[in-house]
Amino acid sequence: MHATPFVGLRAPLLAREDPALLIRSRQRLGPARMLVMNRLANALFALVLAATPSLAWSQNARGSLDVRWNAGAADCAASPQAPLQVHAYEPNTIILRQSPCSEFEAGFLYLLIGSDRALLIDTGAVADPSRMPLAKTVADLLPNVGDAKLPLLVVHTHGHGDHDAGDSQFAAWPGVKIAPGESAPLRTFFGLSNWPDGIAHLDLGGRVVDVIPAPGHHPNHLAFYDGNTGLLFSGDFLLPGRLMVDDLAAYRASARRLVDFVRTRPVAHILGGHIELDVDGQLYAWGSTHHSNERPLAMQRADLLALPAALDGFNGFHSRHASFVLTHPIHNLVAMAVSVVVALLLMAWGLRVLLRRRRARANGRA
Ligand SMILES: [Zn+2]
Ligand SMILES: [Zn+2]
Repeated sequence: MHATPFVGLRAPLLAREDPALLIRSRQRLGPARMLVMNRLANALFALVLAATPSLAWSQNARGSLDVRWNAGAADCAASPQAPLQVHAYEPNTIILRQSPCSEFEAGFLYLLIGSDRALLIDTGAVADPSRMPLAKTVADLLPNVGDAKLPLLVVHTHGHGDHDAGDSQFAAWPGVKIAPGESAPLRTFFGLSNWPDGIAHLDLGGRVVDVIPAPGHHPNHLAFYDGNTGLLFSGDFLLPGRLMVDDLAAYRASARRLVDFVRTRPVAHILGGHIELDVDGQLYAWGSTHHSNERPLAMQRADLLALPAALDGFNGFHSRHASFVLTHPIHNLVAMAVSVVVALLLMAWGLRVLLRRRRARANGRA
């Protein structure tokens, strides 16, 4: 069960239910009217429950995605640009974007600030602080607590190098805890003993973030859901671009679990690790440092709801969908290797036939 579902909805409702007021009003009513009133109250409550996602959504901390992300450049040397772009979705939710010129995958990192500690989701692709001043940028964004900075917990959506290479920048920073990357210590760290079915909860102080296992792209992939904003951080599991399948069965199961998860929760936006599609649905070439006309970062509930069926119908190699492209790098690599071997065999066979004919012709002339 979710520890604090619909935080935004229930708090105001409960605040209005003053017990003294309820007892006083009941004393004035007879049993028959009480029954009618109870039925009316039950019907009203059912209506409120049915409308919960939209009501709760309206009470999430609203933010803005009105931002133009750095598009990089075809010739980065001729167009020097800041390595890290900072956008405040709202004052306590910061989106950091690596420039395509610093790192062609141009990953997004997310900083969530609570009253007791902050949470950094992913540390990006660049370890060298002179090329990507991540730790310094995050330190500047964190509020002070006395003479120190607010404690920081660093976590990762998954262990690919473009999501955890910046960890080393935080190693010597006091007040920082970094989640481990290996399976067993990671699960112990979050208390996810029932992997992948359990859900962990991180309390940042007035802000609870759910940690949801989502293997499929990577065996230790996690998604994070912030109850205060209704943002779901999906890493490389769901993003506007290539969804690289590593384990199809695990991906399918994770997609179903996440769909179940959002069924009872408001989702303002789903924010992934990268943007790899332009507004016309074309993929950027792998390695391109120029992301012209990027599709928006945010995906919506409908994109997640479409994922289980897309995975069920996946041909195992490559398939395009409205807001993402499913691809299986290992299968594609094997298919390419098989094609190359078949092409080489055909060429060898053709050469042999050719040589035999020539030899036969030469023998005929002799
Ligand atoms: Zn990845
Ligand atoms: Zn990635």
